[in-house]
Amino acid sequence: MQKVYFKTFGCRTNQFDTQVMMSKLKDYELTDDELNSDYIVVNSCTVTNGADSSVRNYISSMKRKNPDAKVILAGCGSHSKGESLFEDKKVFGVIGHSEKENINTVLKNEQPFYQIGDLEHIDTTIVEEFVGKSRAFIKIQEGCDFACSYCIIPQVRGAARSHKEETILEQINKLASNGFGEFILTGTNVGSYGKDHNTSMAKLLKKMSQIRGVRRIRIGSLEPIQIDDEFMELLSEPWMAKQLHIALQHTSDKMLKLMNRRNTYKTDVALFNRIAAKGYALGTDFIVGHPGEDEKEWKEAIDRVKELPLTHVHAFSYSKRDNTASATMKPEIRGNIAKERHKELTTLIKAKNYAFRRSHNSGLEVLLESGKEGIFHGFDQYFNKITVKSDEDLSANWVRLEDVEVSHEGNKAKI
Ligand code: SF4
Repeated sequence: MQKVYFKTFGCRTNQFDTQVMMSKLKDYELTDDELNSDYIVVNSCTVTNGADSSVRNYISSMKRKNPDAKVILAGCGSHSKGESLFEDKKVFGVIGHSEKENINTVLKNEQPFYQIGDLEHIDTTIVEEFVGKSRAFIKIQEGCDFACSYCIIPQVRGAARSHKEETILEQINKLASNGFGEFILTGTNVGSYGKDHNTSMAKLLKKMSQIRGVRRIRIGSLEPIQIDDEFMELLSEPWMAKQLHIALQHTSDKMLKLMNRRNTYKTDVALFNRIAAKGYALGTDFIVGHPGEDEKEWKEAIDRVKELPLTHVHAFSYSKRDNTASATMKPEIRGNIAKERHKELTTLIKAKNYAFRRSHNSGLEVLLESGKEGIFHGFDQYFNKITVKSDEDLSANWVRLEDVEVSHEGNKAKI
């Protein structure tokens, strides 16, 4: 049997896509040895110019180290760089997102191929990823309808489209009866789930919560404008994880406009205060160093971050991506300045997180993952990590912790 090696670049969605391809391989053997494989499928990422270079460098290195292997380009990079790499004969084949599920047939091509497909397709396979034996990530949608200036995703993943509700629920049902208690919903723009099927995230959540065994539900990320009244009503439900990740990307009005975001600081701060008042921890995504972020904007932004009830942040330093609106914007921000701002932001949120943990050190509901030598790790309902010491085997167990030890490094407890 011929052997196939998968190389995955980029985000969790790409990791899911690799799993879809792997699950469809019937006439080939999977290998984890790239140097002795007959095919190398490169599931690529194209989020920044740097990501493109990493993919290109990997392909060149494989051509040197395993010259007999057929290199197939898949993933987001197929839609941005596939044509040129194919024309330059750097790869044997190119497949677009819609062709992933046909990988078994596609690999049988004896002639070089360019099968880019379309960006409307949604896979029939719902993928899950398991963390230990009790938490599962479920991808519920694909694509994005927004047009943020710095982002190439809508061009390479297409418009937002959702998986069928019944397929998602069926999958969750199966996992819950196998002992999974926590579910994390993911996708490219998760909060847009349901718009194309005349339903909503809130309706899906309600149906999920009725499945026996479902104990806690987390949502990967939401956009501020996707939080409607129907969703707000669910915040007091016991099965909702008490942390939401709501992507703001910035807190300066000028920057939000330049980034072509749909949120504004005025409504964001009102929304965050409303949710925090319901006992929630709040995380966000934030891009520092986007063109146009001068001193004045940065000062305004960081002062506003101080006001916001934030507990977690994914901070990104802006990195250029050709063929996006931001790529030609001026003035660009120097790397060292972006680095300083990144640090300022993360240090501030770390302090806020510490203060939050100090005031939330009891009644913590933790799902522990598998442990080693009496040390277990898990997350509480506020998405804070905790280390638990115990002589018992607590893997995959839910525990309720009182008076945990809180330090700058993290939360700790002994059972
Ligand atoms: S919401 Fe904006 S940043 Fe997120 S995938 Fe869509 S366009 Fe990109």
